[in-house]
Amino acid sequence: MAIREIREIGDEVLTKVSKAVKVMTPRTLMLIDDMLDTMYESGGVGLAAPQVGILKRIVVIDVGEGPIVLINPEIVETSGEQTGDEGCLSVPGKAGCVTRPNYVKVKALNTKMKEVFYEGEELLARAFCHEIDHLDGHLYVEKVEGELHDATYEEGPEGES
Ligand code: ZN
Repeated sequence: MAIREIREIGDEVLTKVSKAVKVMTPRTLMLIDDMLDTMYESGGVGLAAPQVGILKRIVVIDVGEGPIVLINPEIVETSGEQTGDEGCLSVPGKAGCVTRPNYVKVKALNTKMKEVFYEGEELLARAFCHEIDHLDGHLYVEKVEGELHDATYEEGPEGES
């Protein structure tokens, strides 16, 4: 259990494509634990491994319904559309309007390297898209409609990830 340093926009690691996890190791399990701790400590709803400087395809999410761990996640189905404010722990104090699918189905592996599927709507669908973008070196700021604006945690986006 440890809190890791969150890399911020401008850090090269956030622009790189992460590598698939091939085998689960104690070291990777520890990374996942640390990612969950770091996400909860920061008040975020999601965190991707590159945000703590590790280029592995691992995402953790909790939109208030319990932790979800996704290894090598892929979006397999989307539908609808939602437009709303989005924030990111790697872009502190800012938010911006992004359009995402309203429904997203994800295929991934769990920590036992078994295939799992998750479906999400609204905030969870947004978190799936946002976090998986991180694994390909993309930040939401590339997709913002209009300008980024200042946001505090209380009055800002629904959740930072
Ligand atoms: Zn983010």
